[in-house]
Amino acid sequence: MSKFLCQRLQTLEAYTPGEQPRDKKYIKLNTNESPFPPSQGVISAITAGEIEDLRLYCDPECKALRQALAGLYQVKPENIYLANGSDDILNFAFMAYGQAGAAFADITYGFYSVFAQLNGIAADVIPLKEDFTLDVDGFCNQNKLVVIANPNAPTGLEIPLSDIERILKTNPNSVVLIDEAYVEFGGISCVELTRNYSNLLCVKTFSKSHSMAGARLGYAIASEALIADLETIKYSTNPYNINRLTQIAGTKAVEENDYYRENCKKIMANRDYTVSELEKLGFSVLPSKANFIFAKSDKIDGLSLYQKLKEKGVLIRHFEKPRIRDYNRITIGSRAEMEIFITKVTEILGEAL
Ligand SMILES: *Cc1c(COP(=O)(O)O)cnc(C)c1O
Repeated sequence: MSKFLCQRLQTLEAYTPGEQPRDKKYIKLNTNESPFPPSQGVISAITAGEIEDLRLYCDPECKALRQALAGLYQVKPENIYLANGSDDILNFAFMAYGQAGAAFADITYGFYSVFAQLNGIAADVIPLKEDFTLDVDGFCNQNKLVVIANPNAPTGLEIPLSDIERILKTNPNSVVLIDEAYVEFGGISCVELTRNYSNLLCVKTFSKSHSMAGARLGYAIASEALIADLETIKYSTNPYNINRLTQIAGTKAVEENDYYRENCKKIMANRDYTVSELEKLGFSVLPSKANFIFAKSDKIDGLSLYQKLKEKGVLIRHFEKPRIRDYNRITIGSRAEMEIFITKVTEILGEAL
């Protein structure tokens, strides 16, 4: 740290992304990426001509992409905000709506507490219940920014839409942000509720379900007024936040949405396979509606399993936090990857005996 950093940021604890080691080729089940490539149309849309056009600024309004998403969700383009990954939207939401503080769960996406700190916002951390379900009553009548991931990460648990609606109704004077990074893997989206609740900010991403984590493309669906707020912040920071190639890729991906739906179905089938194999090995696995599962074994602790799998070339995610240190988060990859994962886990359990 330099002596120049302002005092407010000196204690900032930055988010730790999942490791991306380059020392050897790993089976990567640690950052919830898709095992499938982007659709064919996306790949062929990035032509040499488009690359030559990189000398020009991109469309700050992202008209084509917005129009495509508006068609997909049957909303107006004015109900859609596009961002350089959904993380940017989360940051903007804390910046814009966190004046009275922000409420989020103790076990959830690690970035929420970072954004609260970054923006100097008081965090009200509401512990999940013993079984890792959301304390819905705890989120009612907060009248501060409410931030919930549905399905939650890293647990994979789904929050029923009726509970979200109760939280929306009891927080009429504050924004409720629902982070749907994983909703395409079997969850139910709250997009429909944005028509009736002007305080609902639904945040989504192309990173997980749409095989584009590296393109950096996230979006929000909400009332026109909320979207206008986000636009104001964008035009006050970085108007060209979605680069040309990503706008093209995103627009094509929306046109080819059926391909991604099929991929999500495959992931869900691979998830069922992995859960049943892990259960045969004695693991307990939380019921997941995401492209990852959260699992623990009574034969080996979470950290050891993570380390031994890494030695064997398989990366999973371990969080050294008291409530969840027994668990690991395992991204669901291709069937072949999950078979190797199960083989390696079986080997490790055999060695541990
Ligand atoms: C991965 C993830 C995001 C961020 O996705 P990007 O669009 O890649 O920035 C947001 N929320 C949750 C819960 C995530 O797991």
